[in-house]
Amino acid sequence: MTRVVVTGIAGRMGLRLAALTIEGDGLELVGGVEAPGHEAIGSPVSELVGAGDTSAGDVVDDLEEVIGGADVVIAFTAPSATVEHAAICARQGCALVAGTTGMSAEQLAEFTSSAKQIACVFAPNFSTAMNVLFKLVEEAARILGDDYDVEVVEAHHRHKVDAPSGTALRLAEGAARGLDRNLKDVVVHGREGAVGERTRKEIGMHALRMGDVAGDHSVFFGASGEYLELRHHATSRDAFAVGAIRAVRFVVGAEPGMYDMGDVLAG
Ligand code: NAD
Repeated sequence: MTRVVVTGIAGRMGLRLAALTIEGDGLELVGGVEAPGHEAIGSPVSELVGAGDTSAGDVVDDLEEVIGGADVVIAFTAPSATVEHAAICARQGCALVAGTTGMSAEQLAEFTSSAKQIACVFAPNFSTAMNVLFKLVEEAARILGDDYDVEVVEAHHRHKVDAPSGTALRLAEGAARGLDRNLKDVVVHGREGAVGERTRKEIGMHALRMGDVAGDHSVFFGASGEYLELRHHATSRDAFAVGAIRAVRFVVGAEPGMYDMGDVLAG
């Protein structure tokens, strides 16, 4: 039995991850963590998730309280919380599946220094089909070359707090790699005012925020007379949650180190 703690358990992803853990063969939900002061603290995890009896007890506000009984922590929360939870996992030797996006460079460095001491799957997008798109975009960029303008457009629900999405950045990095460019040197975020003619090597990034969109990403390659759109559309959060559960099964048997969803799908 693989024992799982979900942090951010009352969040949009957390609730679904907890439910899939309870349903999953060979998985046991043993704890749920929320932010200090959150209204779910102290309520039974089973009630929050709408499940029958679980061994998860009540929602707590400190991962240290429940990590002792866990093999894997799943973290889809906020950058500072995930950095802190990675440090706790490293101290306790507990594996980690982390999907939080929007970390600063400093947060990412701190997160990585903890996470590499344990087995950790960290991915901006846990969807299986999106991980296929990552490969396709890099390959398309390599084949199409400098004649095609690259633009990345993403759409998410109105509650998303970071932009552009971690997935859009990963797609743009893949296109840049395929074109032998450094994304940092060529990325243009949105356009406004008298920006002048498009430079040939720039990669445009655009973020839409509306309603309840779970995640929509397109990469356009435009040239004279045609454009190619490679698009992924997440119809529900299960696109990510099912992949994260797959990562739980992978990480529990993995050697210490940092892995991404590509490793999970290959393994
Ligand atoms: P959400 O706001 O619905 O949920 C986040 C939860 O984390 C909230 O309930 C919040 O209270 C909780 N939280 C904040 N600080 C905490 C702390 N210190 N300890 C415990 N819990 C804490 O957001 P969401 O839509 O579920 O997304 C969460 C994160 O996952 C975001 O960064 C989002 O971009 C990312 N995400 C990643 C993927 C992927 O495939 N990698 C998919 C969807 C969302």
